[in-house]
Amino acid sequence: MTSNPDSHPIPSAGSDPSSRIQDLLVFGEFGDVNPSITDSSTFTFLSPDTMGEVFTHEIEGCFLYSRHWNPTNKVLSQALSALEGSQSAQVTASGMAAISSTILQLCHAGDEVVSNRTIYGGTYAFFKNFLPRLGITVRFVDMLDPAEVVGAMTDRTRAVYCESMSNPLLEIVDIPKLAEIAHARGAKLVVDNTFSPLILSPLRLGADVVVHSMTKFINGTSDCVAGCICADDAFIHELTDIGSGACMLLGPVLDSFRSASIHKNLHSLHVRMQKHSENALYLARRIEDLGLKVYYPGLPSHPQYELLTRLANPGFGLGGMLAIDVGDLATANRLMERMQEAKIGYLAVSLGYFKTLFSSPSSSTSSEIPHEEQDRMGLKGGLVRMSVGLDHDIARTFERLRTCLEELRISAAV
Ligand code: PLP
Repeated sequence: MTSNPDSHPIPSAGSDPSSRIQDLLVFGEFGDVNPSITDSSTFTFLSPDTMGEVFTHEIEGCFLYSRHWNPTNKVLSQALSALEGSQSAQVTASGMAAISSTILQLCHAGDEVVSNRTIYGGTYAFFKNFLPRLGITVRFVDMLDPAEVVGAMTDRTRAVYCESMSNPLLEIVDIPKLAEIAHARGAKLVVDNTFSPLILSPLRLGADVVVHSMTKFINGTSDCVAGCICADDAFIHELTDIGSGACMLLGPVLDSFRSASIHKNLHSLHVRMQKHSENALYLARRIEDLGLKVYYPGLPSHPQYELLTRLANPGFGLGGMLAIDVGDLATANRLMERMQEAKIGYLAVSLGYFKTLFSSPSSSTSSEIPHEEQDRMGLKGGLVRMSVGLDHDIARTFERLRTCLEELRISAAV
């Protein structure tokens, strides 16, 4: 038998997520300052009896096979537990794997999910097009209106699903209120916290499960696709159960080399989030001063500004994402081409990278959502979503953006 998966307990560092991560010291095999990377799909047993006992659940806590658990993924999972303040966590090969495994673990045929309408297009497509094939129904509502959520709940509702900061409209949902509504009907509140790691701690606010696309801010270098699920011990145990766990049986395992590199990047997340937020706030204020319509939850003009400042953890700002409405898709496309030529950043989907990324959600990351539904959620064709990078001189970035807007005669008129 090899080492115990729980051999690196998380030190308690109070409620500050960044301090909890700071307190994690994991030694490598030779006292290395970075934990050793497990380069093995399988693990030895000294006795066949012990191996059999792992399969029959008579013993637990040893490494068996890397699709189940491996030490490198365990180390990253423990750091993610520290990030979200959860008892436990599981890493996955993508954000979509985290979302699909969670929902498929919670719901059986005949069950229902109540979801916010404003969510990432891929999640929307999974809910709308894929889950019905398995007999699972998703009801989409506007979660800014708690009465709509209450009205959609039934005895078959197993999960209430939302993004803490929604993609792409950057709406902020009232997590404590949604938790109350979900729990009153025995459902779990599942929150995708991809846009606001460290800034919001959904579990502390009452959620039951947090999922992330680690592809974004958590990793921060746009060099891999990965995800995670943070929850209590019982749920992570269910997900990894050899006989019935979605993570074990659907096989969305993260490679340990990627796990190790994400773990190193996670330790700079607090510095990056502060800078992303500082830069996004600067741009949002200046763009608003030009009279353009800006979506940024850190501006007092944002409808959920008060809510966000009440729910957010201090010290990380109010997010690195913003969106501008420039009127129509053709104008948005011309602007983005010009912004790339002006070296403001890349015309690319995704977010959380150290460089600025921009795209037009209605024709890209939200294109899975039918146009009538986009209209209902207020998603306009002229929206340009920006993931603001870690630019040292953000004033210069703004001047370049202003020049692009002026050249294209984009003004307050829209
Ligand atoms: N959740 C949100 C909010 C996203 O924006 C995305 C991808 O853009 C995902 C989940 C899916 O993550 P991944 O691409 O890592 O599967």
